[in-house]
Amino acid sequence: AEHVDEDEALRAARERVPHEGDVVLRIADLEKSFGEAKVLDEVNLDVHAGEVVAIIGPSGSGKTTLIRTMNHLESVDDGRVELDGELVGYRIDGSGKVTEQPDAAVAAQRRRVGMVFQRFNLFPHMSVLDNLTLAPVSLGLMNEGEAKREAERLLDKVGMAAHRDKFPYQLSGGQQQRVAIARALAMQPEVLLFDEPTSALDPELVGEVLEVMTNLARDGMTMVVVTHEMKFARKVADWIVFMDGGRIIDQGPPESLLDASSNERIRSFMRRVT
Ligand code: ADP
Repeated sequence: AEHVDEDEALRAARERVPHEGDVVLRIADLEKSFGEAKVLDEVNLDVHAGEVVAIIGPSGSGKTTLIRTMNHLESVDDGRVELDGELVGYRIDGSGKVTEQPDAAVAAQRRRVGMVFQRFNLFPHMSVLDNLTLAPVSLGLMNEGEAKREAERLLDKVGMAAHRDKFPYQLSGGQQQRVAIARALAMQPEVLLFDEPTSALDPELVGEVLEVMTNLARDGMTMVVVTHEMKFARKVADWIVFMDGGRIIDQGPPESLLDASSNERIRSFMRRVT
């Protein structure tokens, strides 16, 4: 019964018109090849403020490549990635010529788009607390005291406050991933990207990470999540994007995309994974 109440609370907290409002991230006509292989083909996607977009689809369909372009970790051959209307990683001069942005500008944009990786990527030689304060302090966004207070608040939010002085090797994978989420939040990103955040975890540790993500969604964080966790996608996502062969072959709210798509490839995928 508790579960039902929780789901209802989440739904009530996130009552919204699906996929409408201010566009934070816009992907337009994206094309990307690795050598001869086309990995992204005519990809178009808008991410709206406060929504959770889940990207699903078979292995090798381009999900990770797509989410990496949103942070300029992956370059594109054609098309645009825009953050609040500005091109990510590029700029257009008066004559319409597209050029690469200077590194500092790319770094500034990247700061506004947080990323949580499959394999946590914490700094191994630093305490949990230092993992969170390093970037905000060294980039001059906060002084030591402010960064420490903010880090403590965020660690509390992900249930890791008691572990602030530990090192990553002393933590389970689920705990490391929760710290990695807090570290991404410490930069106060406008959007948080998750690339299969639970796929490197032992099954019994998946739930604690999904719970943290669910709470973030409830708080109104804008999130894009590549995931194989269909229950999570169904419950938390406002919008689901299905990729196959480098294309978005369908997108829509969970109930129509997961349960009622007319696309046979999606129906057969759903039969395999659920
Ligand atoms: P997914 O996340 O859906 O599993 P990926 O985006 O990881 O898909 O990969 C899409 C395709 O691009 C795959 O065929 C993969 O082998 C290929 N690919 C991904 N990264 C690279 C790379 N750095 N160099 C060459 N091919 C790559």
